[in-house]
Amino acid sequence: MRWMPDEFSDLVAVVDDVTGLVGRTPLVRLKRVTRGAPAAVLVKVEAANPAGSSKDRAALSMVRAAEASGDLKPGGVIFEGSSGNTGIALAMIGAALGYQVVVVVPDRSSQEKLGLLRAYGARVVITPALLPADHPDQVRALAARLAAQTPGGWYAGQYDNPANIDAHYSTTGPEIWAQTGGRVTHLVAGIGTGGTLTGAGRYLREVSGDRVQVVGADPESSVYGGGSGRPHLVEATGRFVHPDTGTDVWPRSYDPSVATTVRQVPDRASITMTRALAREEGLLLGASGGLAVAAAVALAHTLGPDDVVVAIAPDSGRSYLSKYFDDDWVSSRGFGPETGQVPAAALVS
Ligand code: PMP
Repeated sequence: MRWMPDEFSDLVAVVDDVTGLVGRTPLVRLKRVTRGAPAAVLVKVEAANPAGSSKDRAALSMVRAAEASGDLKPGGVIFEGSSGNTGIALAMIGAALGYQVVVVVPDRSSQEKLGLLRAYGARVVITPALLPADHPDQVRALAARLAAQTPGGWYAGQYDNPANIDAHYSTTGPEIWAQTGGRVTHLVAGIGTGGTLTGAGRYLREVSGDRVQVVGADPESSVYGGGSGRPHLVEATGRFVHPDTGTDVWPRSYDPSVATTVRQVPDRASITMTRALAREEGLLLGASGGLAVAAAVALAHTLGPDDVVVAIAPDSGRSYLSKYFDDDWVSSRGFGPETGQVPAAALVS
């Protein structure tokens, strides 16, 4: 009897702990939502990370950098302000590496997300969502303050932490280059902290001698792409202006010089594409993935057969069943695919 049948020879046998499963996510070629487009569109499925999103990479990189610098010591306590994937990623990593984790969340976070944090053993502190950026109890300010007041406390701070960008420069970008055998011509990514686009985009531009074009996909009302800053429906991506303070600071985790263009994507196109990906490709992704794919497919229609567009899908649609996949939710906002026959890619400017 052979121990390792040939078809499994590239399978990693055992990892030391669950953090060994972060990264090395697959690329899936789209077949149906790309109909008529000459270029290939490949989706980087970040839901394959162990806590379910691209934030596993950023969180692990921030923790490892803090361990190396001595900011996070054995027995330390990790703090972050996050309504979603970063908190969940840190909760997973803390559990695996033996750190307590405290996540400050806005009071409008879904029960599913709070449930995930608690399932990993994190402590959850709830604060009002609509506080101005300079209010001491604002999500990130409160997390930083609690960290400073706690012996052994360390605040991750993904918007200011260079290890967020490093994660994507040293893993996401090189993976895409290796997986496409250097044939990638365009990277399309949404911009939340901007870490993914900045890190992966910078790597791919450098390694290709600036041949790879880096395209930011942004909700049309977000300020990154020049929008008005009014709130939009695609969670965890884009940036809007606070209704009270009216001001907003671009995070240090986003370097606007990396993107060759930023395409504005209407919520209708993002959500229509998110639903189409599940029904027509069997890919259940969050709406920031639908946003990136809608921009990627629109772009692929303008390119040639040698072009290879890679779109980043940061997380799974499972977290959004009661939103983007709920027929009442979408039709009450007037844009289920059932209410119109326009292909999502045709809606992207
Ligand atoms: N989509 C989802 C679902 C996310 O969790 C994030 C990260 N907050 C993003 C998009 C944006 O990624 P980044 O912060 O690297 O720009």
